[in-house]
Amino acid sequence: MNAQFEIDNPYLLLTPGPLSTSIGVRRAMQRDWCTWDQEYNLLVEDIRQRLVHLATAQVHDYTAVLMQGSGSFSVEAVLGTCIPQHGKILIIHNGAYGARMLHMAKCLKLNVVELAYAETQLPDLNDIATMLCDPQITHVACVHCETTTGLLNPIREIGALVKAKNKVWIVDAMSSFGGVPFDIDTWDIDFLISSANKCIQGVPGFGFVIAKREQLEQCQGQARSVSLDLYDQWSTMEQQPGKWRFTSPTHVVHAFHHALLELEQEGGISARYQRYLTNQQTLAKGMQALGFECVIAQNAYQSPIITTFLYPQDSKFSFEAFYLHLKNKGFVIYPGKISELACFRIGNIGEVHVQDIEHLLQAVAQYHTFAKA
Ligand SMILES: *Cc1c(COP(=O)(O)O)cnc(C)c1O
Repeated sequence: MNAQFEIDNPYLLLTPGPLSTSIGVRRAMQRDWCTWDQEYNLLVEDIRQRLVHLATAQVHDYTAVLMQGSGSFSVEAVLGTCIPQHGKILIIHNGAYGARMLHMAKCLKLNVVELAYAETQLPDLNDIATMLCDPQITHVACVHCETTTGLLNPIREIGALVKAKNKVWIVDAMSSFGGVPFDIDTWDIDFLISSANKCIQGVPGFGFVIAKREQLEQCQGQARSVSLDLYDQWSTMEQQPGKWRFTSPTHVVHAFHHALLELEQEGGISARYQRYLTNQQTLAKGMQALGFECVIAQNAYQSPIITTFLYPQDSKFSFEAFYLHLKNKGFVIYPGKISELACFRIGNIGEVHVQDIEHLLQAVAQYHTFAKA
């Protein structure tokens, strides 16, 4: 952690969004901007183009839409806009964010069916293949990195089944896009959703959707909400390039643009992935050496984004005390989100480097010694 960071921030966020941002990103917010000025609209257009280029090499087939609100607003905009009145959606879920999509679908009164799995379980491809025999299903949605646990769902394999049956494929890649390399065209995703304050390392305030152009073009007039009409938001941004329909979070947009430049300077998504992976592996190994147990097996399905640890066996362990000790040492971690297990989570996305993880491990070790004394 550098000196300037410590001056500005009392602690490093080891939480997956909002996360610790760079000084440059925070500085980009220190002036006011006009929303109808061309300078701003060009910036918005540059962001949209950069997002498509980050997502795929097939840039002409895809388009990006920005949407006010946190990431969930963009998920709801997709679900509420892209499913026609007589459509039917299958939601595959194994965590809180997948369950949130189901909640949205029900609230929107969509015709919805689900495949539910425990938070520590991967979706079963045979179940999915069987379910997809229902000819009424038109759309399928699933979360890529389930931030509840840090589990990376097999989106590529699920997508192959979805596409074999010609369904529209929606992926919540909120906490993986920008931090895990993949090509949205190779994986044949129709709608990918993410937000400003995850792996691109901006600040909270808007989400975005990268959509297959020919799919989005079919969504006119289908939205079940005015503010969250993804098609209308997109067609306004296309027709009056860079214009948002309603007031946009100008400071957040500038910070995000700066964050995109920093991602490029770092070496793009593959370089960022390597940094996150080093963070995650150092964290998991170090915590295991201190006697903590990971909830998810440390294999290809453990994401480089966030790791879940069980509370230690020691009955005197208090998460509250542990949390406060780490906060005093300059690190904020996350409580667990698994219904059946006593656990906590440590994220490693954002302006977090392996030295920070090493310092964190020292602070955890100190707590252990102190707790035993
Ligand atoms: C962060 C996140 C969201 C969006 O959550 P918000 O609180 O609305 O920002 C959705 N899905 C996943 C997998 C996430 O990690």
